[in-house]
Amino acid sequence: MTVMALFSALTHQSGKLYRKLFPIPCLLCGLPGLQGPLCRACTAELPLLGPACQRCAMPLESAQICGRCLQHPPVAEHCLSLYRYQAGIKRCITSFKFHQQLQFADFFAAQMSHLLAPRKQLPDCLIPIPLHPLRLRQRGFNQAQEIARRLANSLDLSCQPELLQRIRYTRSQSQLSFKQRHHNVRQAFQCPDKAIPAHIAIIDDVMTSGHTTAEAAKVLQKNGADTIEVWTIARAISHY
Ligand SMILES: [Zn+2]
Ligand SMILES: [Zn+2]
Repeated sequence: MTVMALFSALTHQSGKLYRKLFPIPCLLCGLPGLQGPLCRACTAELPLLGPACQRCAMPLESAQICGRCLQHPPVAEHCLSLYRYQAGIKRCITSFKFHQQLQFADFFAAQMSHLLAPRKQLPDCLIPIPLHPLRLRQRGFNQAQEIARRLANSLDLSCQPELLQRIRYTRSQSQLSFKQRHHNVRQAFQCPDKAIPAHIAIIDDVMTSGHTTAEAAKVLQKNGADTIEVWTIARAISHY
C-alpha cells in the first residue's frame, strides 16, 4: 500500500467514525442527523438522466443511438451516466471535488452499483480518468479514482488506475469553450507498458463535451482494449 493509499484509507475511516459520532445535515436541504451526504427525499429528487444514446449518453426519447453517433461512431461502445449535470447534482459534485466531501464517493458508487448490478456482462476492470500529478497534489485525491475504487469493490471488479497516465497538465475543461476542449485534452494521456484488459470501463465524474473520455478511450484502444465503456456520474447536456 502506498503512503497516499494509506492516508486515503485512514481519512476515510476517520471520516466514517466522525459521521457516526456527529451525523451531518443533508447537503441540499439541511435536514439533520444523516449518515450519508443527502436525505432520502433529496436523493429521490436528483435529476436522473433517463433514456439516452447508448454511445454518448445524450438524452433521447428512447435508449438507442443518436444521429451524431451513427454518423461518427465514438470509440467507446457504451456510455452511461447517472444524472443530468444540473441543479442539485452540481452542488453535490462541487462539494465532493472542491470541499473534500468524500462521503459523495460512497454515495455515487452505491448509486452506480445499484444501476449496474443487474447487468450480465461487466468489464474486466475499471480505469478512472487520471489527474495530472500537480492537480492531484492540489486537490489531495482524484475524484474519479475514489468512485472507481468503491464501485469496483461493490461489483467485485478490479480497478487499475495505473493503466492510464496523464502526461500533460491541461487547463480545467470547465473554463473552456466546446471547441477549445478538444484541443486542450489532445495527447493528454498515455498507457504504461502493461497489458490492457480486453473489456474496460473508463470512470469519470462529469461528462461535458465528452472530449476527455474520448481521448482516453482512443489511447486505451491503441494499447489493446477491445470493448470500451464510459461510466460517469453526471452528463452535461447544455451543448445540444
Ligand atoms: Zn435533503
Ligand atoms: Zn450519441
